[in-house]
Amino acid sequence: KPTLYVVATPIGNLGDISYRAIEVLNDVDIILAEDTRTSGVLLNHYQIKKPMMSYHEFNKEAQENKVIDLLHEGKNLALISDAGTPGISDPGYEIIKAVIDSGFHAVSIPGPSAILAALVISGLIIQPFTFIGFLPRKPSDMKKMIESYQNRKETVIIYESPMRIQKTLNTIYSILGNRNITLSRELTKTFETIIRTTLDKAVSMDHNPKGEYVIIIEGNHNIQTHFDLTIEEHVQEYIKLGH
Ligand code: SAM
Repeated sequence: KPTLYVVATPIGNLGDISYRAIEVLNDVDIILAEDTRTSGVLLNHYQIKKPMMSYHEFNKEAQENKVIDLLHEGKNLALISDAGTPGISDPGYEIIKAVIDSGFHAVSIPGPSAILAALVISGLIIQPFTFIGFLPRKPSDMKKMIESYQNRKETVIIYESPMRIQKTLNTIYSILGNRNITLSRELTKTFETIIRTTLDKAVSMDHNPKGEYVIIIEGNHNIQTHFDLTIEEHVQEYIKLGH
């Protein structure tokens, strides 16, 4: 059956690609790439010569029918993004769903993603965790989203661009208060930097406005259940909840 292979590619270090990923990229008829120039660097490095077709946020609807037609013609395709695993804060979801709904195969070729790369060396409790991806840009939506995690126990993973890291950390601190956090910058690259600190310290640091960041925040381990509260605290909680 014609197949769309969802292939993970490196998040920085070109060496981080699986043997099977290389085999699949060499075997398919066409490679769907988020940015053909970025992916060209990787494909050149591994001397993979395949026709590429662009598939990104702004042409994904237009490309969907073409992809399904190609599968109907019996072609095998690979989907790659600029970095890491397609579909993870990257284009992919819609085309993968369309392929499955049309009765074709979707096969995962697993590999790098900044989520797990950052999480396992964060020094914070690994499981359970929640992956948010990029927070909403609109300040009120961002606040609402962070507030919804205030009382959650699991470790939270956020992607952030270097331009907004400082502001985002301020917002997180103002809502969650002090917590342990880990900032991972430029994972797998020459200037990889891991900062394991607390939110109060992180907000007053100068953060490099270059590179890419994963923010990992410790869950709330101080949630008081109503069994822990005195009667006075109970009343205070009740008032806070707006009763
Ligand atoms: N598909 C990718 C994945 O599987 O991780 C994520 C793509 S998303 C557009 C890019 C974001 O991922 C960056 O803003 C950053 O938060 C994170 N990221 C990607 N590569 C990274 C790296 N080498 N070091 C730290 N963060 C990275």
